Amino acid sequence: MTALVFDNRFLRELPGDPEQGARRRQVRGAAWSPVTPTPVAAPRLLAHSPEVAALLGISAQRLHAPAFAEVFGGNALYPGMQPWAANYGGHQFGHWAGQLGDGRAISLGELLADGRRWELQLKGAGPTPYSRGADGRAVLRSSIREFLCSEAMHHLGVPSTRALCLVATGERVVRDMFYDGRPQAEPGAVVCRVAPSFLRFGSFELPAARGEQALLQRLVDVCIDRDFPHLAAGPSRRADWFAEVCTRTATMVAQWMRVGFVHGVMNTDNMSILGLTLDYGPYGWVEDYDPDWTPNTTDAQDRRYRFGAQVQVAYWNLVRLAQALAPVFGEAGPLQAGLDAFRARQADEERAHLVAKLGLDACREGDEALMARFQELLQRGEMDMTLAFRGLAGVDPRQADAGTLEAAFYSPARRAEVMPDLLAWLDQYAARVRDAALPGEVRRRQMAAANPKYVLRNWLVQQAIDRAEQGDPAGIADLLEVMRHPCDEQPGREAFAQRRPDWARERAGCSMLSCSS
Ligand code: AMP
Ligand code: MG
Repeated sequence: MTALVFDNRFLRELPGDPEQGARRRQVRGAAWSPVTPTPVAAPRLLAHSPEVAALLGISAQRLHAPAFAEVFGGNALYPGMQPWAANYGGHQFGHWAGQLGDGRAISLGELLADGRRWELQLKGAGPTPYSRGADGRAVLRSSIREFLCSEAMHHLGVPSTRALCLVATGERVVRDMFYDGRPQAEPGAVVCRVAPSFLRFGSFELPAARGEQALLQRLVDVCIDRDFPHLAAGPSRRADWFAEVCTRTATMVAQWMRVGFVHGVMNTDNMSILGLTLDYGPYGWVEDYDPDWTPNTTDAQDRRYRFGAQVQVAYWNLVRLAQALAPVFGEAGPLQAGLDAFRARQADEERAHLVAKLGLDACREGDEALMARFQELLQRGEMDMTLAFRGLAGVDPRQADAGTLEAAFYSPARRAEVMPDLLAWLDQYAARVRDAALPGEVRRRQMAAANPKYVLRNWLVQQAIDRAEQGDPAGIADLLEVMRHPCDEQPGREAFAQRRPDWARERAGCSMLSCSS
């Protein structure tokens, strides 16, 4: 086996905490703390992503050697690994929360593979200085959810952190899932997340809030050098960087809106500086279309992070980042320009997705209204977002009917109520498609690529979780396999492209989720 090569720039170029170990503390003037994963009883590899293993140059031989589960369960290190927990703060649900940091994530090192740099990070690897009152662990159910969604998002074309593997710890973790005073022991697990960088908006907000100018400045420079090396040196480098953070964030959120993804906890500590979807907790996928829906029970009252609010929230979060960066920039102009670039990119992306999802030639006058009316119909008709958009590709522009949309209805009563208006809309849509005059095959291919058939519906994941908790992890690999080609027709796998079944409507984990993880 060829050796893995680590080059831990984060540690080398940013100031660290002089104290080693997990004593809970406020860490000032430092971007990270040295801390090793806490060993677990019986690490066992439950699942891995073949694409991520290939990206990292991890061979099948290494994957299946006993040392692999030891390393990725937290019991051993490969040569060159130097574990640390990162320090950051964040705005949680609209309020400044002070120091948060990696309370249960521990980075192992920056792996160099094929000219690229990948930070490997265990989640659930035990306590760190940032664990506050918690145990630093993660339960199997939330780890399966993070592992699968990281990869599903990537295959859907949504920028995301990746996941290399999922390791069972052989230990139990106690969680009060419903926050009702009935804690239970659940199986524990560790996910290895992979990204070029796990810096968050909150990484910059914390030193800014503490007046740690030198650290803030250093973080900006290291982030640009390490994570944005394509930006040319020169007087506008920092401005270009902030603008790119803004436009990447716009692209990411526009992709969420395209596929019906709801993050659930868009706190600034969960916003990646690279515009990657980060921290999979109580996320969900829109089924019956509702812009006001959030899967997060903790946010059920205010619905701050509801589906339809995500673009606005991303902008709000960027404003927090801009405020944190103000002392580094010294003038407001470049920061405002970045925020404006968010708006412009967001509008461009939304129009591009509209064109692709409806199968048009371009975004012309009236098309945005056409899309808005379709979305209204989806909501009034309580239609499944994924199945409805997928069904549109089957609409014959010479003779439009609702046949290919029938699978999207959850309620016969709602169907009946909305059908006259839906048929009227389909006539307008068909006229617009005729006007676009794309060859049928081109239109269908474009629509299939923009409207996935398979998304990671919570109840599908829950079925894989139920099986894994009974000792059979095969459902995880099965679901991952389906999600590797979300836009292809996959004969024999229709069960993965269904409306939410009735049993899943109220079951925990299948629609609504708590933050307990
Ligand atoms: P989240 O809402 O999952 O992004 O977590 C917010 C903060 O709580 C982060 O600083 C996490 O590291 C920390 N945290 C969440 N769960 C745990 C846990 N079980 N042990 C230690 N820290 C945790
Ligand atoms: Mg987080």
